[in-house]
Amino acid sequence: MGVEKKILVIPGDGIGQEVTTWGQKVLTAIAANYHHKFTFEEGIMGHVAIEATGDPLPEETLQKAKNSDAILFGAIGHAKYDNDPTLKVRPEQGLLKIRKELGLYANLRPIKLFDELLEASSIKPEILRGSDILFFRELTGDVYFGEKKRTEDRNTASDLMIYHRYEVERIARKAYEAARNRRKKLCSVDKANVLEASRLWREVMQEVAKEYPDVETEHMFIDNAAMQLIKDPKRFDVVVTGNLFGDILTDEASQIAGSMGMLASASVGDKTGFYEPIHGSAHDIAGKGIANPLASILSAALMLDISFGLKTESQRVIKAVEATLRQGYRTMDIANKHTVNEFIMGTDAMGAKVL
Ligand code: ATP
Ligand code: MG
Repeated sequence: MGVEKKILVIPGDGIGQEVTTWGQKVLTAIAANYHHKFTFEEGIMGHVAIEATGDPLPEETLQKAKNSDAILFGAIGHAKYDNDPTLKVRPEQGLLKIRKELGLYANLRPIKLFDELLEASSIKPEILRGSDILFFRELTGDVYFGEKKRTEDRNTASDLMIYHRYEVERIARKAYEAARNRRKKLCSVDKANVLEASRLWREVMQEVAKEYPDVETEHMFIDNAAMQLIKDPKRFDVVVTGNLFGDILTDEASQIAGSMGMLASASVGDKTGFYEPIHGSAHDIAGKGIANPLASILSAALMLDISFGLKTESQRVIKAVEATLRQGYRTMDIANKHTVNEFIMGTDAMGAKVL
């Protein structure tokens, strides 16, 4: 008999609803094939939750989240909030609250280019081929949460960059553990030549590094890292960095994998993991059945690996995605306009091919 797990599915808004269905179907298929017992519950969050209850994260969803082993999330958002920034109750509040309540402090973004998509990228194939990076972005500290000030005359402003030792230590350990299971290389990114918060970051990283002598550690300044990422992405294995640098660097890195429709992420803390595509609710294509479901399917693969420790099953999902791409099936966002022998699929047809 396999493992028993409780999974909360939060489809959210827009294409979140369309793509999460496929993440869940893939998890169901894995459970059946490998004799695991996954039970699913559904929760609402975001615009749909505001419409139904007035609250972007209803208490009922939060309780279900706390009682689950992992969460599969889609996306939140709706065009009406983009056009009216004064609306007080907003979908994003739900996401920020659930991250805080679940103590999710590390955001993992694997950037892996599928060979099958090499030709569709705007970066040269010989630079890209074989890129496989796992980013760890710290989620609870940095300028996002430090004190924000504006002088009375409104002409001077500041955001405090703040880090505590324990915050750096815990994400350092998560990143080193992951590096141990990969190519045993870790690059810590900071700006320690200028910033005091970065000096603390580097100091703590160097201390934790001593516990992992089998992993090769490198320290790099953010400006250099941003350049190296485009010049030679293959040199990186695990990259760990703070909240602000991680925000910028992972968006840059998403271009290595081609489309946003391909990229999955995991937010983890000490308990329940939270898995989601990096893309948003994409109102422009919502309801048309053309969204790429692979980011949600790959989020399910991450859940199997990180939250449940089911590496074989996780690899099985990734192989199925690879096989689907190899056979020439594409959604519009990853179609190579220069190749004619591709089959352009809608969301459901593409999901079904992976299954
Ligand atoms: P949000 O405001 O929630 O971030 P968004 O409307 O900004 O949502 P994004 O997810 O940021 O949408 O995506 C930007 C664009 O990329 C979308 O408008 C869409 O055209 C495209 N896109 C995003 N995700 C997918 C996907 N899974 N499949 C196909 N195209 C996608
Ligand atoms: Mg967006």
